[in-house]
Amino acid sequence: MSESSVSPNIVHRLETEFDAVVPAPLSRYTSFQVGGKTPALVQCHTADQLSSLVSLLHREKQPYFVMGQGTNVLVSDEGVDAVVLRFCDDTSDALIQQEGFVRVNGNMLLDHVAEKLVEHGVGDLTYLSGIPGTLGGAIAGNAGAFGRQIGDDLLRAEVLSIEGNRRWVEADELSFAYRSSALKKSREIVLQADIRVEDVDGQELREKRESILQLRKEKHPDWKSEPCAGSVFRNIEPTSAAGRRQAAGWFLEEAGVKAFHVGEASLYAKHANIIIAGEGACAMDVYTLSENMKRAVKERFDIELVREVQLIGAFANAS
Ligand SMILES: Cc1cc2nc3c(=O)[nH]c(=O)nc-3n(C[C@H](O)[C@H](O)[C@H](O)COP(=O)(O)OP(=O)(O)OC[C@H]3O[C@@H](n4cnc5c(N)ncnc54)[C@H](O)[C@@H]3O)c2cc1C
Repeated sequence: MSESSVSPNIVHRLETEFDAVVPAPLSRYTSFQVGGKTPALVQCHTADQLSSLVSLLHREKQPYFVMGQGTNVLVSDEGVDAVVLRFCDDTSDALIQQEGFVRVNGNMLLDHVAEKLVEHGVGDLTYLSGIPGTLGGAIAGNAGAFGRQIGDDLLRAEVLSIEGNRRWVEADELSFAYRSSALKKSREIVLQADIRVEDVDGQELREKRESILQLRKEKHPDWKSEPCAGSVFRNIEPTSAAGRRQAAGWFLEEAGVKAFHVGEASLYAKHANIIIAGEGACAMDVYTLSENMKRAVKERFDIELVREVQLIGAFANAS
């Protein structure tokens, strides 16, 4: 194996001072549950800890990658030649309620945010119910459902630059668009965020959340038992200003991909845009299957699908 870009001294320091897992299998930290290792993974419990680690790694010129719950990434079988800073707290449910907004940590699970707001009788962010991942990951990728996304309700966020400097940015500086934000390019990390809320009828919110969770249960796999990362491809942009975005799943279904499989990777029976990495699947199976799906749509409709799931590490001829 070629030499790692991460210095052994740094790996040792991360292990002894920050309790890093050395090396860490990323299959354990991603919803696809496939892929190789990182030389070191640090579980960052607080924004301060994450900030000091980013400053240290930047100063020491060490490559690093920030991950939330790992529900929108596919890690290559060779792993990632960088330190992974995991900013995800599956147990946190603390949010600070202020007049007209709530302040939430970037490492809190999105569904916990939605659940807590229902409990507090404020919202309406029920559309986020059941979406896996952290608030930070959701803001970076402008996650959403039912025609609404987190960028619509964000007031401001505290972000950390790749050099380790903190600043607050207003939502309109983040150039939110369909499943994208300026953070994708700047690589700034969301430490915490203020989300706009209003007082709403609590019972109404509870019922809405329940019906959304039920709907998602019927249509989406549970990634814990059926490893996946949600939609593999983005929906298709309209060709005119008046047009609407079209579901990639429809084109995939029409192109006949439902029966496709590579190794143990196959399509979710209820959704042609979701790959399930079955037991024994590797990242290359998932990647090759996605390439086959893309090719089928290109051949049938002359449409170039764009990947929504982010590839981490090396994939041959990745697009
Ligand atoms: C079953 C299933 C259903 C899904 N349904 C939906 C859906 O309905 N709608 C939808 O939008 N998505 C959906 N997804 C995709 C996924 O849940 C979202 O993209 C989620 O927001 C990813 O968050 P994460 O913490 O897992 O990010 P990760 O996968 O860990 O990271 C994704 C990207 O975000 C960056 N990132 C992570 N944390 C931060 C942070 N704090 N600050 C800045 N950048 C950060 C990472 O560097 C990486 O580039 C689904 C996924 C699954 C498995």
